[in-house]
Amino acid sequence: MNDKLAGLSQAQLDTHWMPYTGNRQFKRDPRIITAAKGCYYTSADGRQIFDGLSGLWNCGAGHNRREIAEAIKQQLITLDYAPAFQFAHPKSFELAERITHFMPAGLNRIFFTNSGSESTETSLKIARAYWRKRGLPGKTKLIGRINGYHGVNFGGISVGGIGANRSLFGPALDADHLSHTLLPENRFCQGQPQQGAHLANELLELIALHDPNNIAAVIVEPMAGSAGVLPPPEGYLQRLREICDQHQILLIFDEVITAFGRMGTASGAELFGVVPDILNTAKQLTNGNIPMGAVAVRQGIYDTFMEQGGPDYQLELAHGYTYSAHPVACAAALATISILEQENLFQRASELAYVLEETIHQLRGLALISDIRNCGLAAGLTIESAPGEPLLRPFRIAMKMWNKGFYIRYGGDTVQLGMPFISTSEEIDGLVNALAESILEVA
Ligand code: PLP
Repeated sequence: MNDKLAGLSQAQLDTHWMPYTGNRQFKRDPRIITAAKGCYYTSADGRQIFDGLSGLWNCGAGHNRREIAEAIKQQLITLDYAPAFQFAHPKSFELAERITHFMPAGLNRIFFTNSGSESTETSLKIARAYWRKRGLPGKTKLIGRINGYHGVNFGGISVGGIGANRSLFGPALDADHLSHTLLPENRFCQGQPQQGAHLANELLELIALHDPNNIAAVIVEPMAGSAGVLPPPEGYLQRLREICDQHQILLIFDEVITAFGRMGTASGAELFGVVPDILNTAKQLTNGNIPMGAVAVRQGIYDTFMEQGGPDYQLELAHGYTYSAHPVACAAALATISILEQENLFQRASELAYVLEETIHQLRGLALISDIRNCGLAAGLTIESAPGEPLLRPFRIAMKMWNKGFYIRYGGDTVQLGMPFISTSEEIDGLVNALAESILEVA
């Protein structure tokens, strides 16, 4: 028996069409995780694997937190589900209010979703509907950014800017894109690059092209994560904000990765000092324990829907999910937030961010590495492509890492790191050393 299979048959393996996975390769060489604790997974073959990406950027407080498990259990045996439409349970309101403490001032109306992708769709729909409610129904076009990632639904892939996520799926929504902010002069820059704020002025060109009367919103990740950790150039987000204000365009921050600690702050908005109109979250909100997202909206937007809502028994926004504010997800989120606060984990992440910055940039000069970027407790490396096989080397590096006892993410020509907020400096060192070895082995 293959001890990597956790007792599964090949037929069982073959049945599950795995998401964002090279299924054929995986099923030949499975990487199955059977348990987790703190910063470590246990693999099916019994090894301890350091979690170098906090799951998928969502388990910053570490795995199998007893307090969250207890809260989930208590909720399940008290109220397993309550209808999300027209009726409610108390924890959704309690959680909404708690979340506002982490949001920039004014973003104090919270709409619940079940994922980052649903947060994107929700924010884009709110933006379009808002302009209708304001008597400007022509404002429908959406502006994203090349290299942006906003999840996998049709709105998300329309504003998203990673070709591989769109090209299979035919026509998308009406959207246009700003350039990405990866400039050659900023290679190996530590933290936020100095050069590049001028790229925000491209929005003026798109406005001239499409007319602001046709544009609903601009959506960007303050720090682009999936494209390989791209911190915003200094002044870039500020300039986007100014232009949006001047032309009556809503600014949406997709903070699905950056909210709740990854930046060493409550949000990217806080770190970069720019307040959007709508701020999307998910991932770290429940520490990965139960699917949940939350969209924070500027109060004036919510008020517009209420004022224009017709009779008060009428829906103001025909949108929502069966599992919006699921009681168990709310319990998990409330417990997560308590942990983040009590253990001062934003502060901890921000201290570790310096360690990561110092350590990861020591890899500069190593074979195959053409760029290193870092932002908060996140880092991305660009790997020179093998001729004709742009995706091969990051994949091979990640496999070497797995075999050495480290889980990291790879995507496009990058590898990405985002360890739990409860990691130690020694663990970061160990991860980066193993990464250097793995890169040399595939060079
Ligand atoms: N937005 C951003 C910025 C993300 O990083 C992700 C996921 O990585 C999403 C949206 C989609 O989230 P989900 O996979 O929960 O739908």
